[in-house]
Amino acid sequence: MKIGIDIGGSHIGVGLVNGAKIVSKKEIDLRKEDKENVKKIIPKLIKETIQKLLFENKMQITNIEYIGIAFPASLRNNQIGMSVNLGLNGFEIRSDLEEYFKIPVYIRNDAKCAALYEKKYGSLQTFSNAIFLTIGTGIGGAAFYNGDLLGTAQNDLFKIGHISINKDGPICKCKRKGCFENYASIRALKTIIRKEYCIENDITGLELRNLIKEHVQEENMQKILNEYVDNLCIGMSTITNLFEPDAIAIGGSFAHYKDIFLEKLRKKLEENKQKFHDSCPEILLAYAKNDAGIIGASIIMDEEEKDG
Ligand SMILES: [Zn+2]
Repeated sequence: MKIGIDIGGSHIGVGLVNGAKIVSKKEIDLRKEDKENVKKIIPKLIKETIQKLLFENKMQITNIEYIGIAFPASLRNNQIGMSVNLGLNGFEIRSDLEEYFKIPVYIRNDAKCAALYEKKYGSLQTFSNAIFLTIGTGIGGAAFYNGDLLGTAQNDLFKIGHISINKDGPICKCKRKGCFENYASIRALKTIIRKEYCIENDITGLELRNLIKEHVQEENMQKILNEYVDNLCIGMSTITNLFEPDAIAIGGSFAHYKDIFLEKLRKKLEENKQKFHDSCPEILLAYAKNDAGIIGASIIMDEEEKDG
């Protein structure tokens, strides 16, 4: 049995995991005041929640092989670097938890953990060369080559969302111009639609989808949706040219928009073949919704062992 922890910008999920199955889990929402004090509050919440889970399931920490954490940050050798979501730059949590629980703790970037889940248990099981893309507030991802998760030299990142697709584009939070995620993330789609339909207040994902469905027959909405798919295709063509994947699985909140975009996207990529890229990977939706982070975190060491 392992413990998998998924830390997001506004919530923490902690689960007891056996293979692909979450035996028991707890979800905690981070309140606004928690976010101002994340360095103290995250270790405290993790410790309390693990104790509760073990108690409720009549287990001891000695029954647990290790704790895996999916963290929304760049990481190097289990050390947390920059996390835009949590407003952190450098955060030491591993030694604190290892000292407290007396078992190993491993940390990886959250998109990598979700990718590990997809490769081992989800949509990418049968593909050796594949890309996992998470499209939501931003765009993140991971690449598998010959079945192995590719790493980068320094920060365990594939900054797919920050490939520039327009040298004159808007300035991104990474300070560069024209980043892919400013055109093809769900947040970017929402920004464009709010602007075009003069919606001043922020809207939820559900409200956005309802708005799209309501106006889908209108020329203006069609133009926005087609433009979005075009931009998504440009980034995906670049990825296809670089990695020649057999499949690209898309996770994140994009899954909620599958009826609106998936067929359009497949068709457009096929049309763009030869123009922007040679091969055409299968475009799949990721299996996992909310639990991919927890389960993915619990299999971090499966991948490391394979490396070793
Ligand atoms: Zn950027």
